[in-house]
Amino acid sequence: MYLRGSMRINDAGHLEIGGCDTVQLAQTYGTPLYVLDESMVRARCRAYRLGFEESYPDAEVLYAGKALLTTAMCRIVEQEGLSLDVVSGGELYTALAADFPAERIYFHGNNKSRQELQMAVEAGIHRVVIDNFYEIELLAEVADACAQDVSVLLRVTPGVEAHTHSYIQTGQDDSKFGFGLASGAAAQAAKRCLESGRLVLKGFHCHIGSQIFDVTSFEAAGKAMFGFLEELRCETGFVARELNLGGGLGIRYTKGDVSMDPADYAKRLGGFVKAEAEANDYPLPRILVEPGRSIVGEAGTTLYTIGSSKEIPGIRTYVAVDGGMGDNPRVALYEAKYEAMIASRAAAPLAETVSIAGKCCESGDMIIWDLEVPQWSSGDILAVFATGAYNYSMASNYNRLPRPAMLLVNEGSADIIVERERYEDLIRHDRIPLRLATSEAAPRHVRRA
Ligand code: PLP
Repeated sequence: MYLRGSMRINDAGHLEIGGCDTVQLAQTYGTPLYVLDESMVRARCRAYRLGFEESYPDAEVLYAGKALLTTAMCRIVEQEGLSLDVVSGGELYTALAADFPAERIYFHGNNKSRQELQMAVEAGIHRVVIDNFYEIELLAEVADACAQDVSVLLRVTPGVEAHTHSYIQTGQDDSKFGFGLASGAAAQAAKRCLESGRLVLKGFHCHIGSQIFDVTSFEAAGKAMFGFLEELRCETGFVARELNLGGGLGIRYTKGDVSMDPADYAKRLGGFVKAEAEANDYPLPRILVEPGRSIVGEAGTTLYTIGSSKEIPGIRTYVAVDGGMGDNPRVALYEAKYEAMIASRAAAPLAETVSIAGKCCESGDMIIWDLEVPQWSSGDILAVFATGAYNYSMASNYNRLPRPAMLLVNEGSADIIVERERYEDLIRHDRIPLRLATSEAAPRHVRRA
């Protein structure tokens, strides 16, 4: 079994992460439980930074908060010297509540509200990444109302189809995001910003998708962007000082995923940008990247307790755990694949193949089809790997399941960074209108005898 980051099998034959026995963590904190390996998150942040330091010092790494954002994550990202990309008022609020420096925050999103933009402008965030014409006008109005200039990037769809699941492709012409290059919308948007009194155009952004292994897709997008920059310079004289090439670097979920080390990726991208700028005789822009998954994905593990099972002779054995699509919707959404092990029998030989089901009322609520496991029994702890990105951040209360707690583990200590939801939390926002307050109010046909 491939062990990530600080994982190891300890003398008790249990999986250990960050020096903590996962079986003990499950006993102490309950399951399902998200466990985040702090040293691995920090190592990934550093790999990006150091990779660029070597190849292209004028670079900035933004952590894409949509992958996993909590106040503790904001602190780690801040301490590692990364900037932050947020995509909603809620993410911005989280960052500000964690005292993340506003001057290192970038704000994305394809339908930011007036209220969200106002919050961003008032907080003095570094850049708003404008996605569409409606937003240009809305932001200009907000900037006017606040009597403040706002520095912006424009999100461009470079017309590149990344090799990944169609739901996480974003750079193709037919995308809900950004200004198209082919249609001329990107150039038109740039001109509109250049005419605007309050919007200060700093450069451009593109993001072609997520879980991408093929670096040539990023380079194809970069090439298209340089082509656009050069055309715009010829037409308007505008020289972009910033070029954000997005996130999207893939990680290893299963054996077939051959991921690239972030430091190598950064070095290659730095070299590529230099070469492109030189070929176009374009002044070297500041490069920005905004990785999410490749920073937190493999640092996260979800622990579950095995409960019921169902053997269908000649077909398969379903083994059910105490979580599922509520804490990890990626399997139901994208048919995502995961690796896992029975953490309480981590050293035992593999004995059979089972399928891991969640506890939600959906046949699609599966976590892993066909997982090889040792002899197991109810009460064993299952560890599902690489759940750090787009699990907690996409979690729901479907079936009114409380969301799990999250622990940050490092060198033998474990700290709760997200409390487990309680049943009281599930009804915290429910209201019973006065007219339903007594059963007398119910129409006759629904009253109990
Ligand atoms: N930037 C933008 C605009 C995105 O939409 C995303 C993810 O969808 C990211 C960055 C982060 O991508 P990833 O987590 O694949 O690195």
